[in-house]
Amino acid sequence: MTHITHWINGSLSTQKADRHGDIYNPATGQVTGSVDFANAATVDAAVAVATKAFEQWRHSSLTKRVQVLFAFRELLHVNKEKIAALITQEHGKVLSDAAGEVTRGLEVVEFACGIPHLLKGGFSEEVSTGVDVYSIRQPLGPVAIISPFNFPAMVPMWFFPVAIACGNSVIVKPSEKDPSAAMFLAQLWKEAGLPDGVFNVVHGDKEAVDALLTHPGIKSISFVGSTPIARYVYETGTKAGKRVQALGGAKNHMVVLPDADLNLAADAAINAGFGSAGERCMAISALVAVEPIADELIAKIKERMATLKTGDGTKGADMGPLVTAVHREKVASYIAAGEKEGATLVVDGRDLKVEGGGFFLGPTLFDNVTPSMSVYTDEIFGPVLSVLRVNSYDEALKLVNDHQYGNGTAIFTNDGGAARRYQNEVEVGMVGINVPIPVPMSYYSFGGWKNSLFGDSHAHGMEGVHFFTRGKVVTSRWLDPSHGGINLGFPQNT
Ligand code: NAD
Repeated sequence: MTHITHWINGSLSTQKADRHGDIYNPATGQVTGSVDFANAATVDAAVAVATKAFEQWRHSSLTKRVQVLFAFRELLHVNKEKIAALITQEHGKVLSDAAGEVTRGLEVVEFACGIPHLLKGGFSEEVSTGVDVYSIRQPLGPVAIISPFNFPAMVPMWFFPVAIACGNSVIVKPSEKDPSAAMFLAQLWKEAGLPDGVFNVVHGDKEAVDALLTHPGIKSISFVGSTPIARYVYETGTKAGKRVQALGGAKNHMVVLPDADLNLAADAAINAGFGSAGERCMAISALVAVEPIADELIAKIKERMATLKTGDGTKGADMGPLVTAVHREKVASYIAAGEKEGATLVVDGRDLKVEGGGFFLGPTLFDNVTPSMSVYTDEIFGPVLSVLRVNSYDEALKLVNDHQYGNGTAIFTNDGGAARRYQNEVEVGMVGINVPIPVPMSYYSFGGWKNSLFGDSHAHGMEGVHFFTRGKVVTSRWLDPSHGGINLGFPQNT
């Protein structure tokens, strides 16, 4: 059994916790460890340490910061498999998926390695006689990152490399369901030479989150999780005067036009619908088939689903278990609701039988889903793909734009004009054209629209640099040395 506790000031906390959570291996259903839950006093201690560390770190040279970031990048690269194994053990996703998420996080570290260039300000000489104006960006102070269970390494890495590169200190509050990856990353930072106290991890639930949201020492909150909690975090954090970016849930549509390559579309639907058991905020959960192609496309998807192997993520499966028994039951209850509400159940994931006590549910496909059904209105966050049949591009667009979520979307077509119209007209933050999961590269910014994001700032890229810094503009007038400056042989004013 592992015991996970907080990482404060470069070492494990020695405080005794009064509350704990269980950690499971979702592939076996067994409890494998426990995680300490922080209370307000633990958060207070972490903020005190982060505040002290910030005073030093903000004055570290850009050269020094880049050296630490490069070292961290190398360590991440070398330890990718170990981190992936920790993720699979607590989350359940297959090892290749887990390694993939480490790579996507590593790319943000690589982006942050360019911080000297990214922090360059502007300079205007002689805006008035003898007057220059220039802009600089300065760090905020201790910042908090609160992350979800589904990407225990990548999501914190959307934020902390940029935050640290900008000169801030960080407190991460990972999901209590899979806390080990964040602890491993903390050790790598230490090994990379980051001063103690710049990167801290506190574990816990609502109590820890509430303490961070209202703590006067915390200057910003970067949150990723479900929409109700994202809204709460945004409202509570901004009320306490903090800068907040809160990324929420999703229902991502894939629109398939009649001229699309249906084999490509079917492959994409499988990968984006069932990869990581649908527990991705960029998963495709609604497939909008523009007639007359629905029958053919569904047949191709069904054929491919039959070859998918669901099982232990360490043993060569295509799809792992769901994260907890409770979540598995919730997803299964949506399948029951879809059937009751009149959708056609083409493939029922509840039929899957896997030996042992793991939280497995097979991939599920619904046809003839309509906009009022709960399988369509709600984020299910499981391996359930719903097909909606429409008769025109306009009908498809209206469906997507009317939905409460606007995280990601994809269009499949061979018509560049249609794709161009879609990218312009769709009310969604990230758009793929013949690409089902259009996660932006680290030098662009990640974020959705509508109920998928509260706040003004997306993650990483230049929006990340702006989020983790405050702008300052200096207007300066230096008189010529002849006006009584130090005597370096300049002719004195007479
Ligand atoms: P969650 O909202 O349950 O938890 C997220 C974080 O909030 C965790 O650290 C958790 O401990 C904390 N938390 C939970 N309940 C809380 C409460 N009542 N008060 C304060 N804090 C609380 O989300 P999850 O189940 O861990 O993750 C899945 C969700 O995250 C899905 O909705 C998914 O779409 C979303 N997600 C979104 C993105 C995105 O970029 N938009 C990315 C990944 C995941």
